[in-house]
Amino acid sequence: MHTLRDRFGRRFSYLRLSVTDVCNFRCEYCLPNGYQGRPRGFLSVAEIRRLVTAFAQLGTFKVRLTGGEPSVRRDFLDIVRTVREVPGVQRLAMTTNAYRLERDAEALKASGMDAVNVSLDGLDATQFQRITGDRRFDRVMAGIDRALAVGIDRIKINTVLLKGLNDHQLGDFFEFVRTRPISLRFIELMRTGDNQAYFDRHHVGGELVRTQLDGAGWQPCAPGRGDGPAVEYAHPDYAGRIGIIAPYAPGFCEGCNRLRVTARGGLRLCLFGHGSADLRPLLARDDQLEALKTHIMSALFEKRPAHFLGQGDFGDTAHLASTGG
Ligand code: SAM
Ligand code: SF4
Repeated sequence: MHTLRDRFGRRFSYLRLSVTDVCNFRCEYCLPNGYQGRPRGFLSVAEIRRLVTAFAQLGTFKVRLTGGEPSVRRDFLDIVRTVREVPGVQRLAMTTNAYRLERDAEALKASGMDAVNVSLDGLDATQFQRITGDRRFDRVMAGIDRALAVGIDRIKINTVLLKGLNDHQLGDFFEFVRTRPISLRFIELMRTGDNQAYFDRHHVGGELVRTQLDGAGWQPCAPGRGDGPAVEYAHPDYAGRIGIIAPYAPGFCEGCNRLRVTARGGLRLCLFGHGSADLRPLLARDDQLEALKTHIMSALFEKRPAHFLGQGDFGDTAHLASTGG
C-alpha cells in the first residue's frame, strides 16, 4: 500500500471531507449572516465513494465528514454507509452542530458512525443563541445525551474560545465533563477572510485554559494513534477530558496528519493555505482510480511545512464552512 507522505516526512492518514457548504446556523465567527452561497454542485455519493477509495488505498484510515453542516444533506446516511464500506476505512467521524443529532443518533450508530464532534460554544440557551444565532440549545444538548445513550463511544465537544463571551466560564465547561465521559476541546478562534473585526475582538490564546487546568490539578495525557493536534488533560475526579487546540502555538503543524477535500472536490492541503487541486474531473468513473491517486500524491508535494498565521497570512478561506473546519 502507498502511504501519503509530504516532502517533510509527514504521513496523512486522516481525511476531512466536506459534504456540503450549506449551514443552518449563523455562528458569529463563521457565517454571521447565514449561508449566502449557491446550494448545489456538491459531490454525489458515487463521487464520494471513489474519492474515499483513492485515499484509503493511499493509507488513509480515518475519515471525518464535515461541512457546512453535514447533516443538512438528505442523503447523509447514505454517505455514512458508503464511506463505512470502503475497504481500509477504520474510523468514521463527523463534526456537527447537532441540530438533528437527537433524531439521527441511532441511525448514525447503525450506519457505522464511530465518533461525533459536536460544536458547543455556550452552556445556556441565551449564550448559545447569542453565538450561534440559533434557538435549539435544548435540542443540541439532548442530541449529545442521545448519542451517548445509543453507544457512540467517541463523542467530543468543540468549543471555540471567545474573549468576553465564554472565556470567563471555563470552570462551567470543565464541570460539563465531570460526569460525562467525553472530551471537550477549546479551539482558539482562527482568523479567516471574513472575520477580522470579530477575531480582533474575541481571540484569546489557549494558555488561558492551560493555566486554569494546571491550577486545578489536571494532567496532560499522552496522544493516541491518529490523534490530532489537541493536547488533552485528564483529572481523577472527572469522567471526561479537556483539550486545547491552539493553531497559533509554535510547532502546531509539525504533526499535521490531515488533508481536506471541499464539498465540490477541491483538495486543500492546509486550512490556512491558498487554492485547491481540483479532483472532480477524476471522480466521474471507477476506472480513473489510479489517475486520481497519482494526482493526489503529486498535489501533496506542494504542501508547505507550516502555516504562516504568525506572519498575518491566513490563506484564502473566507470562513470555515467553505473548507470544512
Ligand atoms: N457545522 C459543523 C459544526 O459547526 O460542527 C461542522 C463545520 S464547522 C466549520 C467545524 C468546526 O469549526 C466547528 O467546531 C466550529 O466551531 C469551528 N469553527 C468554525 N469557524 C471557526 C473559526 N473561525 N475559528 C475556530 N473554529 C472555527
Ligand atoms: Fe455552521 Fe458550523 Fe459554521 Fe456554525 S461553525 S455556522 S454550525 S458551519
